[in-house]
Amino acid sequence: MSVQVQMAVAAGALCVLLVLMASVGAGWFARQRTAELVSSHMAELAVAMAARLDYDMFERYREIGTLAKLEPLRDIWTGDPAMLRLSLEQLQQSYPDYAWIGFADTSGTVRAATRGMLEGLSVAQRPWFSGGLAGPFVGDVHDAVLLAKLLGPRDDDEPFRFVDVAYPIHDREGRLLGVLGAHMSWDWAAEARDVLLRESRLGRTRVAILDRNGRVLLGESRGHVLLNQDAMQHLVAQRRGVGIAFGAQPEQWLTGFAATRGHRDYPGLGWVVIAQQPANVANAPVRNLVGITAGIGLLLSLAGSLGAWLLARRLTHPIRSLTADAERLGRSLGSDTLPRAGGSHEVAELSRALRSLLRRIGLAEEQLAHAAVDIASKNAEARKLTSDVERLRQLADSDPLTGLLNRRGFLDSAERLVSLARRYNRAIGIVVVDIDHFKSVNDIHGHAVGDLAIRAVAERLKAAARDSDLVGRFGGEEFVVILPETDGAATNAYAERVRSMIAESGIALPEAPPLKLTVSLGCTVLADTDEDIQDSIDRADVALYKAKSTGRNRVIFQQPMPRNA
Ligand code: GH3
Ligand code: MG
Ligand code: MG
Repeated sequence: MSVQVQMAVAAGALCVLLVLMASVGAGWFARQRTAELVSSHMAELAVAMAARLDYDMFERYREIGTLAKLEPLRDIWTGDPAMLRLSLEQLQQSYPDYAWIGFADTSGTVRAATRGMLEGLSVAQRPWFSGGLAGPFVGDVHDAVLLAKLLGPRDDDEPFRFVDVAYPIHDREGRLLGVLGAHMSWDWAAEARDVLLRESRLGRTRVAILDRNGRVLLGESRGHVLLNQDAMQHLVAQRRGVGIAFGAQPEQWLTGFAATRGHRDYPGLGWVVIAQQPANVANAPVRNLVGITAGIGLLLSLAGSLGAWLLARRLTHPIRSLTADAERLGRSLGSDTLPRAGGSHEVAELSRALRSLLRRIGLAEEQLAHAAVDIASKNAEARKLTSDVERLRQLADSDPLTGLLNRRGFLDSAERLVSLARRYNRAIGIVVVDIDHFKSVNDIHGHAVGDLAIRAVAERLKAAARDSDLVGRFGGEEFVVILPETDGAATNAYAERVRSMIAESGIALPEAPPLKLTVSLGCTVLADTDEDIQDSIDRADVALYKAKSTGRNRVIFQQPMPRNA
């Protein structure tokens, strides 16, 4: 991968990493803040609801109290029930959430009531009545008991629920006449909540009311006890706050609460209002923020990556041209050198180092070329020396007049032939040759003709022999011939062939008739008893002597002596 691509990828990856970290960090922080804010907002909502409940309850408490204590109405309680009923119905009309208002005498019998409901019946067992006998009374939410049948079924099939307010009624002398009681429809609280939620314009927010025992009076899972009394007391003591968790909640909820606490002489019923919003609803803007941050960040990453790519291209341009130059140079090795590259400091340094390297390579090449020439000339010298030595050896081993082997060269080679013959048990023939009366040839025709004659005899000996035969000049006009693979008869035949050839043809002379010449030859074969070739030559020499002494121009074969003879 090129530096350019690597830098672009690295910059892109780094940017993405930073963006992700920033997004996640910002998201986490925003969630925390949102949770705090929304929870505290929920608490505000709960406070508003609690205040509304307290105020409305206070109003009913005050209204019933006022009616109970109103001086001009003193006589109404013991007067015509129809008048009393009318007064009560007027009060009910002033506030439609009054489900029922009635007056019961001290025995608990209802004397007058709105729409005449329960009149003549006993409410002595109802808590509001006994409570009202003792003094001003408020009763917590309960299902309708006696009125349930009279009020008929509700649209939503839920039972009627009431909050009770009761006041004792006294005459001018202070004697207890009975109890004025009012049932206020609990729908009132639901409506108050709906208005509040509508006004607050919060999405998916829910509000619940718990009684002092932690039972749900209004809201989801109505009738269930969500918090124990300890927890409720704790909340009441705190009055308002955030973050209570209760029940099995499938989603996380951000929660705020507020305790009701009565208003003026209305003592309150110990209700706690809880307002909640799902965390995912609250965090939707956070998610949007994170998404937007990440999106912008990724675009910036792309831009960063592109920037890095362009920068890398700019930075690597001199290196690329340096590489191209170096490659061109590598293909055409010569005295050429790299052009100086510019750009950044590092590139200039690289260029300088490469130029220095090239100079060294050039120098080394020249030195190598010189060394090659030296070696070639030394090799040539060595070859010449070897051939000279070889030539010298040949000169040392050969006879200059005839070109035949001299005694030294002849004996060297002869020893090898003898040892071969002995190893394979083969015959070897030995012939010794001497020109007859050669002194007189010299005397009569001169030394030059003598040399001519010697050379001619040498040629005849060579011509009659095979290539594998060995012919040597042993000094003067004497020759020795060794015939490998040749027995006595064949050796004798060779000697006879030479003798007759020389005797018959003579020696050709320039500008003179041929010179008559004869040779004497002694021959033998290699014997087991011979110590070396010299012994064989000696025996042949004896035969030659016999040939000379018996008239010359002849061949004498000397048979070797048997071993035990
Ligand atoms: P014989 O038949 O008994 O051999 O008689 P001969 O005259 O050949 O006697 P001998 O072999 O003793 O003579 C050798 C002579 O050969 C003596 C010398 O002058 C002559 N001679 C030796 N070497 C050379 C040479 O290289 N060139 C010439 N031209 N003559 C040589
Ligand atoms: Mg001789
Ligand atoms: Mg001789």
